[in-house]
Amino acid sequence: MSAPVLPDVPILPGATIGVLGSGQLGRMFAIAARRMGYRVHTFSPDQDTPTGQIADVEITASYDDLDAVSKFAAAVSVVTFEFENVPTATAEAAERNAPVRPSGAILHTTQQRIREKRFLTSAGLPTTPYREIRTPDDLHAAVGALGCPSILKTAAFGYDGKGQVRVDSPANAEQAWHDIGRQEAVLEAFVDFEKEISVVAARGQDGSFVHYGAIENQHSRHILDISTAPARVPTGVAEEAVKMTRCVLEQLGVVGVLCVEFFVTRDHRLLINELAPRPHNSGHLTVDACVTSQFEQQLRAVCGLPLGSTAMHRPAAMANLLGDLWSDGEPDWPAALAFPGVKLHLYGKLSARNGRKMGHLTALNSDPAEAHQTVLRARDSLTR
Ligand code: AMP
Repeated sequence: MSAPVLPDVPILPGATIGVLGSGQLGRMFAIAARRMGYRVHTFSPDQDTPTGQIADVEITASYDDLDAVSKFAAAVSVVTFEFENVPTATAEAAERNAPVRPSGAILHTTQQRIREKRFLTSAGLPTTPYREIRTPDDLHAAVGALGCPSILKTAAFGYDGKGQVRVDSPANAEQAWHDIGRQEAVLEAFVDFEKEISVVAARGQDGSFVHYGAIENQHSRHILDISTAPARVPTGVAEEAVKMTRCVLEQLGVVGVLCVEFFVTRDHRLLINELAPRPHNSGHLTVDACVTSQFEQQLRAVCGLPLGSTAMHRPAAMANLLGDLWSDGEPDWPAALAFPGVKLHLYGKLSARNGRKMGHLTALNSDPAEAHQTVLRARDSLTR
């Protein structure tokens, strides 16, 4: 594959950026890009999408339609993505026609848990203890080595708890593997963590690095529920997390935004759970709380512009709004908006399904614990 030579001149406002994927991450990226005078083309198999509603052009085609991908890439100055599970051939077709940032090689590493964990291990970074599973023998040996409970995860196409089953006893290991389709997988030791944190960071074309510090995350049903920043962890833990994140971005050679998700163990060790080579749900609070949002940062990085200040105006907490909130009709938006310092973001999705991310609320407060309380109260008020 012959990648085009990267221009060392920045891609300036007025140029067109291509986004692979069309969900809420692309939408918020497109809002940032259009605010700065760029044009946006989005590509996905869907129509009237969260990104397409904001973009100048919405292309609807399969990720496997490599002619359509090539045409899409040829019409833009740079391609980025908001959905990392695009096939390798798709990223390669884009790369033959435009610079892709972060590169297809980074997508390839991070879209599959075994490749991702092998990369982290080779970089000397700590991951949750795990074993690779391809055969029943692998599975039995892994359960013996890691014990129960443990978590079986498909190697590919896993996110938001999809493709994950808890293994509570050696006797139900086979059933768990059956439940995820007997495909290539990893078995992970169950981590009795004290907290989950993430670090969202960006790396420029010139190797510059910025980060938003540690963000504290709470999940519900394996889906991110609440994020609070700054994370309430010892300073040394936050600093170590940033150091590891910088190592990931540098070792991968990322140009763009990447998020590292960590478990903080009860004895304050950090274990890397996952990488996302793009803006992340836990970084949504940067839109309202920081001088430069994670989406503007992605734009600046992929365009070869100077990265922006990540300074936080005020501590913040973000609560996801899942489709479940719509089960008794439209949520009571004025009730949530009556809370001072609360901001509403909705993604323009046409139907609300249980577990589907429809939007989020952000609360700003001088105290992160207060911001957390306020965003929960505001979300509760939607369905009272
Ligand atoms: P993932 O899709 O791997 O990010 O997992 C989603 C969520 O499930 C994580 O953020 C954790 O809350 C939980 N989880 C995943 N793996 C483990 C593990 N090995 N031990 C404990 N909890 C886990």
